[in-house]
Amino acid sequence: MDTMTKSSKVETNLSDRVNRLAESETLLMARKSRELQAQGLDIISLTLGEPDFNTPDYVKEAAKKAIDENYTRYTPVCGYNELKVAIANKLKRENNLDYNPLQILVSAGAKHSIANAVMALVNHGEEVIIPSPYWVSYKELVRLAQGNCVCPVATIENDFKITAKQLEASITDKTKLIIFSSPCNPSGSVYSKEELRSLANVIASHDDLYVISDEIYEHINFVGKHESIAQFEFIKDRVILINGVSKAYAMTGWRIGYMAAPDWIIKACDKLQGQMTSGVCSIAQKAAEAALNGDIKFVEEMVATFKERRDLVFNLMNKIPGIKINKPDGAFYVFPDVSYYFGKTDGQTYISNSSDLSMYLLNKALVSMVPGDAFGSPECLRLSYATSNDKLIEAIKRIEKALSELK
Ligand code: PMP
Ligand code: GLU
Repeated sequence: MDTMTKSSKVETNLSDRVNRLAESETLLMARKSRELQAQGLDIISLTLGEPDFNTPDYVKEAAKKAIDENYTRYTPVCGYNELKVAIANKLKRENNLDYNPLQILVSAGAKHSIANAVMALVNHGEEVIIPSPYWVSYKELVRLAQGNCVCPVATIENDFKITAKQLEASITDKTKLIIFSSPCNPSGSVYSKEELRSLANVIASHDDLYVISDEIYEHINFVGKHESIAQFEFIKDRVILINGVSKAYAMTGWRIGYMAAPDWIIKACDKLQGQMTSGVCSIAQKAAEAALNGDIKFVEEMVATFKERRDLVFNLMNKIPGIKINKPDGAFYVFPDVSYYFGKTDGQTYISNSSDLSMYLLNKALVSMVPGDAFGSPECLRLSYATSNDKLIEAIKRIEKALSELK
């Protein structure tokens, strides 16, 4: 059997569910960059959204202590009670939100928390509103649950945020859920309290409509205090709040995320998680507990660095001819509109969309970024500035040169 026949045979034996699933474009581009780096190419990777800081020492110490104290056995499926108490305290202290530990479930990263919520709520044929641009995994998770995605477009002119009117117009009698992030990956946009209130009013006027509020970038906010849609008491019982320690405490590899939600949703996700993964790593849970109970100074210093880089990248990108760019208020991405370059060529490569452009920049400028199609905005490219100033300056210099060759 030749290789082609072998691989198509394997594919027919896979479930339709998996065959229909797209690979995460962020992870795919990160993998491609690593492969090229391993071949000795001087690739600057601006693909992956993860802080380039090390986990703070006090968190690492807590993990070492947890091992020595034999926190090495199965944990409760929903997480250690001490960690859930630390999360409840954080939600009260930082967000003025009241949740008790029974309304909290710890999972293997915010991604897992979102997957649990989608699987627990969405039935075949139900609609989920995902304003675009959106984070890559939302849509595929909804498809996995056999739901249908409805994606109202948040334009660059409206700072990539949808209006209450757009939300209302997207709701049908099949709508079950809305999923959004603020601060937003990929746009970096941050919804204000008033904007959230207007969305909450729309949600309140439709029974049985839920919202997954992804707040993983909560702390990486350059405009002030984080606002959660869960603060509006009149819809709080329909909010599934998602957060975690990955971004705020530079703990992406530890895989600790959580949801805060009404008890019945937590119980459903606990059942699901109990069959699929059980409680997450005991040592990582103790480390997350220390992070949340610890000093916020680390986070503040990291955010100050991100803000400087945001300004640097914004100013440099803004000078490149044809690029349309918004100044993001949070997260660590810029999401320029690069459609000016569509239809152009350097004489060898023809650019028809953002995937072509990102491959062109990877091959020609040795800079990797994620095409906007993955986030529902095919006219854009996502650049993660979670890397050093030197690398950012060099990368943008290379991008500018490669773009100038497109006519
Ligand atoms: N939500 C958004 C918007 C993200 O960008 C990410 C990226 N990691 C996640 C969730 C997942 O976070 P975690 O690493 O904690 O699973
Ligand atoms: N959330 C990060 C990103 O968007 C990490 C990659 C992922 O989990 O998809 O780049």
